[in-house]
Amino acid sequence: MEAITPTPTNTDTTEKPNPLQDLHNRFDQAAQHIKDLKKGLIDFFKTPKRIITVCFPVEMDDGTVQNFQGYRVLHSNILGPGKGGIRYHPDVNQEEVTSLAALMTWKCALMNLPFGGAKGGITCNSKNLSEDELRHITRRFITELGDNIGPYTDIPAPDMYTDENTMAWVYDTYHAFHPGKNNLAVVTGKPVSMGGSLGRREATARGCMFVVEHYLARNQLPSLSSLKNARIVIQGFGNVGSVAAELFVKAGAKIIAVSDTTGGVYQEDGLDIKAVLNQKIKEGTVVGTSETMTISNEKLLELDCDILIPAALGGVITAQNAPRILARLIVEAANEPVTPDADVILKNRGIDVLPDILANAGGVTVSYLEWNQNLANEQWSENDVNQRLKSIITSAVDRVIERSQLLNANPENPDFQHQDIRTASLVCAIEHVANVTLKRGIWP
Ligand code: NAD
Repeated sequence: MEAITPTPTNTDTTEKPNPLQDLHNRFDQAAQHIKDLKKGLIDFFKTPKRIITVCFPVEMDDGTVQNFQGYRVLHSNILGPGKGGIRYHPDVNQEEVTSLAALMTWKCALMNLPFGGAKGGITCNSKNLSEDELRHITRRFITELGDNIGPYTDIPAPDMYTDENTMAWVYDTYHAFHPGKNNLAVVTGKPVSMGGSLGRREATARGCMFVVEHYLARNQLPSLSSLKNARIVIQGFGNVGSVAAELFVKAGAKIIAVSDTTGGVYQEDGLDIKAVLNQKIKEGTVVGTSETMTISNEKLLELDCDILIPAALGGVITAQNAPRILARLIVEAANEPVTPDADVILKNRGIDVLPDILANAGGVTVSYLEWNQNLANEQWSENDVNQRLKSIITSAVDRVIERSQLLNANPENPDFQHQDIRTASLVCAIEHVANVTLKRGIWP
């Protein structure tokens, strides 16, 4: 597991990190493009359906007792059961979990999945916890959540600093309280040997690659129509970043820089990704890979390249560094890496942003496929999973491009710019949830 550093301090005095407010502002911006969206629905969509906070003690390896704070937020269950990861990080708080839960609603809706949005987390530093302590924390958290999670109510998955082992404990704990039936679909991202899907580990990065490939193939970026020889920079070399590096190279691109918490490595002719992976495994950092130059994470974001892929933390592209970004396309593999103020600057500079709800939706899409396999007691081939992922995610890209073109052509929307793929994605997602809400009928 990676070393954990606190989220970098945002030195831009005009921007204070406020993910929930940012999401609300983006929602409002998209909502104004949806004809006849009722005011009451706007308020409803901005409010989470349920927030659970739990506080529980855990006996540590040294015999001391520590108190932990955990959260599970169900933002919406209009389209189906809640779906979203569980994150273990020192920065986890109710506001962050609430905003990430809402983001999941729009991500699932954009992919046309039968899921609502949810998210969970525990405020803890997993780096300082033993495997036993992590297991005890996970079991106690899942026990506290009780029947608020379940295969047809709310289905967790991995997120930052949780993995397939964590999901195995989630399943095992839930199963202990619900014996005698198939409970595999209560959680996704499980080990393949116990109901996990082939291709799930690579799914977020693979989805990201399918999105970019399709966006370029549809000629959305002048003078770059494919990944062949595209020069790519990736921030973050964990599950998403490292797999993305391998997949983009296979697709013909050159990865000229990657980074992790300790810093970045740069090679103008393209990095040898196998060598970077070996360095990471051996030394715990990408820094020091032979035949590379070391650069800071700040400089990495500002490198001259075709495509910049932030795949680490939120809030790394701000109003402060946006004027210096030289990439032609930014692909949000991480959740919320571009702040709203940065969005405006990038738009004015003609830099397209493929937003998180589109670019990193591969993970939840294959989670949906895992859930289907679990309910049917089947295991599909990796090729089958990848083909289904490609079909779902490229259809979403098509819908977004078409919506973007429609919005652009509408004389009532003079401010809309063709490059605003984030707004077009949100419009598609909100419209879908609004339609289903009204079709189901406002209760009673
Ligand atoms: P991970 O823990 O496996 O990797 C995170 C990477 O980010 C590590 O390489 C770490 O060194 C790097 N990092 C952390 N802080 C950094 C910093 N300050 N500067 C530079 N690098 C830093 O996590 P992951 O699963 O790869 O997730 C990465 C991002 O993608 C997160 O924002 C996550 O929410 C998002 N995401 C992940 C999935 C998934 O399926 N794993 C799905 C959707 C979205």
